[in-house]
Amino acid sequence: MTHDQLSKNLYILQNNINTELQAKKFDIAKHREENGSGGDEVDVANSINDLNRIISDANKLKVKQRQIQAAIGRAEHGEYGLCIECGEQIPAGRLLSLPLALRCVDCESLQPYR
Ligand SMILES: [Zn+2]
Repeated sequence: MTHDQLSKNLYILQNNINTELQAKKFDIAKHREENGSGGDEVDVANSINDLNRIISDANKLKVKQRQIQAAIGRAEHGEYGLCIECGEQIPAGRLLSLPLALRCVDCESLQPYR
């Protein structure tokens, strides 16, 4: 599998994430509507917890969406799959399992624990 073929996976990822994000936005809108109708305190508390969870999921998806966009940007400049530290090609196998990997295994291992 070439890096060119691998970069095509990014568009599939982008499509998936856009669909997921749309679904979350729909859930959030629905939740806000339902919250307007009241209910007892426990219902409201549960509903707020649900809503916060959906919003936090949506925000995680947005972060991922930005990472995918950045990777697509690199692909358009022919830089997808090049390690951002040492400039070496990241092996195809690594990109297959981690399409958004920015570093080769060697450079990744030198990163401080996050
Ligand atoms: Zn490297």
